Amino acid sequence: MINLVKPMLGKEEQLLVEEVLSSGELAQGRYVEQFEKQFTAFNGVSFGVATSSGTTALHAALLSLGIKPGDKVITTPFSFVATANAILYSQAIPVFCDIDMNNYNLSPEALIDTLKEHPDAKAIIVVHLYGHPANMPEIIKIAQMYGLKVIEDCAQAHGASINGQKVGSFGDCGAFSFYPTKNMTCGEGGILVTQDKVVADQARIFVNHGQSIKYQHDVLGYNYRMTNIHAAIGIAQLGKLDEFNKKRQQNALRYSTEITNPAVIKPICLPGFEHVYHQYTVQVNDRNRFMEFLKNKGIACGIHYPKTIPDQPLYQQQHKILGNFPNARIAADKVVSIPVYPGLRKEEVDYIVESLQTYSDD
Ligand SMILES: *Cc1c(COP(=O)(O)O)cnc(C)c1O
Repeated sequence: MINLVKPMLGKEEQLLVEEVLSSGELAQGRYVEQFEKQFTAFNGVSFGVATSSGTTALHAALLSLGIKPGDKVITTPFSFVATANAILYSQAIPVFCDIDMNNYNLSPEALIDTLKEHPDAKAIIVVHLYGHPANMPEIIKIAQMYGLKVIEDCAQAHGASINGQKVGSFGDCGAFSFYPTKNMTCGEGGILVTQDKVVADQARIFVNHGQSIKYQHDVLGYNYRMTNIHAAIGIAQLGKLDEFNKKRQQNALRYSTEITNPAVIKPICLPGFEHVYHQYTVQVNDRNRFMEFLKNKGIACGIHYPKTIPDQPLYQQQHKILGNFPNARIAADKVVSIPVYPGLRKEEVDYIVESLQTYSDD
């Protein structure tokens, strides 16, 4: 069986974790500080606040930008549920904006329509789904017209860029996840990045019990801190991220050039956009048939995601759903991701290409 994902861990991670263990400083400390410095340098941003996960980074981003209960926050319906859940944690109201079928990201045209209906929205969370950057130049323009704060959910797009500028540096805040299936991992972990010192200072307070100085608590905060153990893994992984992404891109390039079967619709990468292929996601007519085919070939696959977020029972039960999203529902019925992770061997990529070339829709 060829796995869909596999974290790539080596001696470097092991040595650094051992260093932390023998230092005795397990919780937040100098490894976290070093990781924040190195990640912000990599990402071309001024400030970074490490967190316990991507989800907590998103929640801290909303809080730090001043989102209050009852505020409307626009986001994509086609993402992992955590993107919209962060809005619910803030007691804000999600408004769902449809996606572009070319790259499955939030559509600037749909955003204009959404804002005509909800001009009072305060912020937007944009997701760079599968590692393909959303159209940030357009989205930022629209957001500025409506005075929207912009948060980038970069959980699937470490290192992705538009005309050389890395995702996470376009909006007011970026949030990354370091869950083991992502382009790089800490085990669990996240980071909030920003160019704005005030936002970074706020975030640091929210993720540490609302504490501005020791044992002074001005606001309701949380324990969303990263530990030195996780940071040590992250430092080692960050050193390999470019190489990991290059491998993903090489695998993706082989699929995109060598799979010529018209029954398999391949992803598109827009010119000037650097895709880091967190997933290589194709579309087929009959998804069940295709998945059965892959299973018989011993190739793992996944659906990201089988339901839109607003179609999840949690959202159906508790909230009046705001927004229209026909494209997202079509995508949820069609997409399938195939293995593209950096540890795939050449023979495995050969085998996946050969197999997909023989797939037939009828
Ligand atoms: C993984 C992911 C998250 C959540 O990150 P965690 O670290 O698991 O909390 C949020 N948004 C997207 C798009 C993700 O893929």
